[in-house]
Amino acid sequence: MTHIYDLIIIGSGPAGLSAAIYAQRARLDTLVIEKAMVSGGQVLTTYEVDNYPGLPGIGGYDLGLKLREHADKLGARFAEDEVQSVEDKGPGQTKVVHGFGGTYEAKALILATGAIHRKLGIPGEETLAGAGVSYCATCDGAFFRNKVTAVIGGGDVAVEDAIFLARMCSKVYVIHRRDELRAAKSLQESLFALDNVEIVWDTVADAVCGEGMVNGLEVTNVKTGEKRKLEVQGVFIAVGISPESKPFEGLAEMEHGYIKAGEDGVTSAEGIFAAGDVRTKQLRQIITAAADGANAVTSAERFLSRG
Ligand SMILES: Cc1cc2nc3c(=O)[nH]c(=O)nc-3n(C[C@H](O)[C@H](O)[C@H](O)COP(=O)(O)OP(=O)(O)OC[C@H]3O[C@@H](n4cnc5c(N)ncnc54)[C@H](O)[C@@H]3O)c2cc1C
Repeated sequence: MTHIYDLIIIGSGPAGLSAAIYAQRARLDTLVIEKAMVSGGQVLTTYEVDNYPGLPGIGGYDLGLKLREHADKLGARFAEDEVQSVEDKGPGQTKVVHGFGGTYEAKALILATGAIHRKLGIPGEETLAGAGVSYCATCDGAFFRNKVTAVIGGGDVAVEDAIFLARMCSKVYVIHRRDELRAAKSLQESLFALDNVEIVWDTVADAVCGEGMVNGLEVTNVKTGEKRKLEVQGVFIAVGISPESKPFEGLAEMEHGYIKAGEDGVTSAEGIFAAGDVRTKQLRQIITAAADGANAVTSAERFLSRG
């Protein structure tokens, strides 16, 4: 017979691990399922984290390990498996989680599978990631003070990133493949008002250049075919992020692939909570993911105590 846990947490990034810490302290019989060999999620790929309170400049990998160590110290249990689907047996019933390696059952679930930043797939993007190529201006912008940077994209995030970077960089190029931006008009107005921003219209990025550190970006104008190299020290890629929510399709309401949930993590499915980057929210950062984990456990505890 399958063991029925009080709570299963899917994903062990900052949201899942903070949920594990709170669940252990709440004495819930909990299992965390993680597909990667190492816990920590996106944080593991971050060279340096300089905005998590109390830990200035901590290496991303170290922060991931610390979060996992904390959960381990409190006795959290982990299973290494990739969740494929979830079956909700209905109100008052259990939820069955199907992974590649096994089947798991619980009275409540926290979905904390995060998101992945979309890549451009151009030469230099992968090799120079963390060495001038970034997917997060809020996280890495401060490392580019008085430098020249380029933002690739034309949506809200790209324009917000460019406005943010313009406060500290000497110059910011916005590389956009069309002749108009998709971003909200108010954001566009703020962007157009900035003296140190140059929008490079109808243009795609071909390659990020540099040996060890970024020193340029090769671009092509799609209308004229003209090629040129921009001298930049930083390249911020803002072409969207994708929530890792495929296994949960049909389980709870979603919006553009994000699981619809407020700060309390409550979703449209009873006993199923969402935390971190996978849920609908304004700011996707470590601190908000950690807060979500704590809030989701509080909601799960409340649900479980109803019996
Ligand atoms: C390059 C980069 C730099 C960043 N820098 C910063 C920074 O400096 N400061 C900051 O605050 N934020 C930063 N962020 C954002 C921050 O990392 C995320 O907001 C945060 O990690 C979200 O946490 P999460 O737990 O919701 O999701 P994630 O960190 O994405 O973790 C989700 C976990 O779920 C697992 N998972 C996914 N699908 C399944 C499945 N089907 N079965 C089992 N497990 C699964 C994944 O393997 C992963 O371990 C950065 C992000 C990136 C990509």
